[in-house]
Amino acid sequence: MATQQRWLTAPPSAHTVRVRLIKDLGLMSIPSALFIEPVAEGHEVFNGPDMAYLIENENLGKKAVFDLGVRKDWWNLPPKVRDSLAFCVGVKVDKDVPDVLKESGVPLDAIDDVIWSHSHLDHRGDVSLFPPNTTLNYGKEMVVMKPEITGNEEAVFLSSDFAGRHNNEIDFSKSTLKIGGFRALDFYDDGSFYLLDTPGHDHGHLSALARTTSSKAGHGKDTFILLAGDACHFCGVLRPNCSQPFPHPHLPDSAIGVSDVENAESLLRRHPKYQQSPLAAAGLVEEARVNPWYGIAAGQLSTFLDPELGQSTASTIKDAFDEAENVFVALCHDLSLLAEDSGKPVLPTLNDAPQRDLNGWYENGWKDKLYWTWVSQLGKEDTNGSIQMREPLVTGFWMNGKKYEKAQEVFDKALKE
Ligand SMILES: [Zn+2]
Repeated sequence: MATQQRWLTAPPSAHTVRVRLIKDLGLMSIPSALFIEPVAEGHEVFNGPDMAYLIENENLGKKAVFDLGVRKDWWNLPPKVRDSLAFCVGVKVDKDVPDVLKESGVPLDAIDDVIWSHSHLDHRGDVSLFPPNTTLNYGKEMVVMKPEITGNEEAVFLSSDFAGRHNNEIDFSKSTLKIGGFRALDFYDDGSFYLLDTPGHDHGHLSALARTTSSKAGHGKDTFILLAGDACHFCGVLRPNCSQPFPHPHLPDSAIGVSDVENAESLLRRHPKYQQSPLAAAGLVEEARVNPWYGIAAGQLSTFLDPELGQSTASTIKDAFDEAENVFVALCHDLSLLAEDSGKPVLPTLNDAPQRDLNGWYENGWKDKLYWTWVSQLGKEDTNGSIQMREPLVTGFWMNGKKYEKAQEVFDKALKE
């Protein structure tokens, strides 16, 4: 991959954390207009799997989980929150993080910290399933949504989300450290794992930067994984870009999951920014090759608290992290993280391979393999030149293995039980 080293700077450290991907935490098919704009024909539905990460600092003997997915009994969320699920095309949650940890031989009392990227229901899970020794960490700006502030009527959280454990409010105003343009805190005080202030999507939205290899530890170079939460939801908000222009004349052979995608040149002519530009009339596609496919949703349906700030955050993630060859950017709902190569998953998961981690992503070329996989989510052009919509991966609302057409039916059923 022809890339140039961008301006990410993190202080040197010989310490790393192991990063393991946790999958199968629920699947939601949602109108794309909640996250991105302008929504391209064929991409009206966003297929979002939910993911979390097990972080392990072996040196300190500490473990943390970054994000928790959707709670399995999502119908028991406060009405104000759960009612928003009615917007979805489909919701299905088969497992939660505690299930996967236990199945993988990681006892819950080994988890020192749960870190929420933000307050949304598809990230907060059910913390009450963890023992009292597990600390809950979240951005300080989130306190305005705690039950004692909102009261019952307007509740966003259940009191069980915070009760009986240490609540650590992450306060970036105390930090003088900046990484990639974002305010940062050194979570373990050893340079292995930083929390970054990545605002815009929600009150106190934060990301995490994990050092996966270290030149000081003899690994050859420093590499990182950015756990970006919902700073943005789709790789097309970061790509293409100046360091990695849209491939010409075809997608690279190394790209996974793009075998049924039309040729790169005709796909590029569907770039929304190109289509809206006078360049289209002139037939000039060069501009489109170096500009991200989408922006952050700013319309009525946007899930961003401050879309302008969210766009600024996403653009900085693009510049400082996604364009850097030594950083793997992992968005929470990125379907490409689950892509398969000849029937085998590219990335190992805690679910299927508990002993394997993501730390070798650079030497394994996983960023190269998955960098363009997102284009497979754009609708496919058929032989008549019409764009066929990508089908939702889940339809209907699933409760205890049974499908309901409407979310309200699930809420009504839960009330009767
Ligand atoms: Zn989310």
